[in-house]
Amino acid sequence: MNVPVLILGGGPAGLSMALFLKDRGVNAVVLEKSGRAGGLAGSFRVGPYTFDHSGHLLHTNNPEVLDLIRNRLHVPLHRIDRRAVCLVDGRLVPFPYQQNLFFQTPERVGEALKGFFERRKAAPKNFHDWIHATCGDGVGRQFMYPYNSKLWNIDLRRMSADWVPRFIPSSGAADILKSAFLKQKDPWGYNAVFYYPKRGGMGTVAGRLAASVSDRTILNTSIRSIDLNRRVVRTDAGEWRYERLVSTIPLPQFLRLAGRAVPDVCRATGVTVFNVGLRKSFYRDFHWCYVPDPTAPFYRFGVYSNISPSSAPRGCGALYVECAAPPDRLGRFRFSDVRRHLERLGFISGKRAVDTVHRLDIRHAYPIPLIGLARWRDGLIRRLQRRGVELLGRFGAWRYVAISDVIVEAKEMASRL
Ligand SMILES: Cc1cc2nc3c(=O)[nH]c(=O)nc-3n(C[C@H](O)[C@H](O)[C@H](O)COP(=O)(O)OP(=O)(O)OC[C@H]3O[C@@H](n4cnc5c(N)ncnc54)[C@H](O)[C@@H]3O)c2cc1C
Repeated sequence: MNVPVLILGGGPAGLSMALFLKDRGVNAVVLEKSGRAGGLAGSFRVGPYTFDHSGHLLHTNNPEVLDLIRNRLHVPLHRIDRRAVCLVDGRLVPFPYQQNLFFQTPERVGEALKGFFERRKAAPKNFHDWIHATCGDGVGRQFMYPYNSKLWNIDLRRMSADWVPRFIPSSGAADILKSAFLKQKDPWGYNAVFYYPKRGGMGTVAGRLAASVSDRTILNTSIRSIDLNRRVVRTDAGEWRYERLVSTIPLPQFLRLAGRAVPDVCRATGVTVFNVGLRKSFYRDFHWCYVPDPTAPFYRFGVYSNISPSSAPRGCGALYVECAAPPDRLGRFRFSDVRRHLERLGFISGKRAVDTVHRLDIRHAYPIPLIGLARWRDGLIRRLQRRGVELLGRFGAWRYVAISDVIVEAKEMASRL
């Protein structure tokens, strides 16, 4: 079969690409390996609970993305002011930690201020140095170093610093001093406000996106190989000849299917998600909690039922608990261990607290922004473009980005194909 544009993967990137190409009158086909399009942005029901593939929230103020979702895909959204916390030495400190020192003990505040004013301000060469130069070693030791080591599972000195400012708010001297003595009212950071579908979880967006291009999507299709010279993709069901190929499948997989080696710089952190239905409402009102404590198996957990009451029956609760490890070591996480630590930290209690547990192992969860990745990836993108191939999405282009970013990227890419 011949097609002008062949898209590999039916997650938000592949589906929005297909939609924007349809708008431009370009024929495209999406090949998706699973029986349902939507990728990691899909939601599903387990008994009476609605779970995402771990909480998926729309962190965007992009009017085009919000307009697409609300007015074209007809998904009503709640606009929600973030209530996130960091659990540091038994205290719940509002996020961002470094902007809310007021909630810490005087000793911790002293250590944080000392570290901040003693920091070297040289331009950071890696993520560890960025934390030192921006927050100081006090905040670093209390929250930033242990939390990020748990999430990324790699020496933070091997990670670049250029992706950080978008995700982690930095403070000036006035901000940090103010935060030591006064409760902050200003919302900080890229996710101070977020959006979430009123019903059905984030999968409502993915589902409507999938429906809008269902005439161009082929499900249950496994790709066997990609021949970049002949511009052919082989699947179990036959061959596809393309003029342009858009790959949104994880980059290491794409390289292997195309007979190429995967360099060491192209690495991911894996995440095991335990979605948990609770027989009673969760008693705290925050949306999610960062847990730097190295003895707890999870780095973060969130409360679906505080984000959207429709995720659990009235009077019940729903959580997502995220544990990170290198992809081949996800098997070590056990819910019994997660439960024990949730109890130890005081978040659940009683034998009957947990109604249901659903486990997901996501091998490629966070592409790691290693030093050298951007240079290698940009070269690869240029070489592939000369062969009619585009890389798109968080995993396709191996970038730490979110759903709204991949929609924006897809629109831009569709306009030049
Ligand atoms: C733990 C976690 C939490 C997250 N939280 C948020 C959040 O709160 N907000 C947010 O905006 N983003 C969040 N994200 C990121 C979000 O999941 C991604 O940005 C988004 O899913 C990217 O879409 P995608 O289409 O690029 O990839 P995916 O959603 O992974 O879609 C890729 C698709 O390709 C298919 N595929 C894979 N291999 C093949 C193959 N060989 N052949 C055919 N098809 C294949 C897959 O089945 C999948 O459907 C989170 C991610 C993780 C892991």
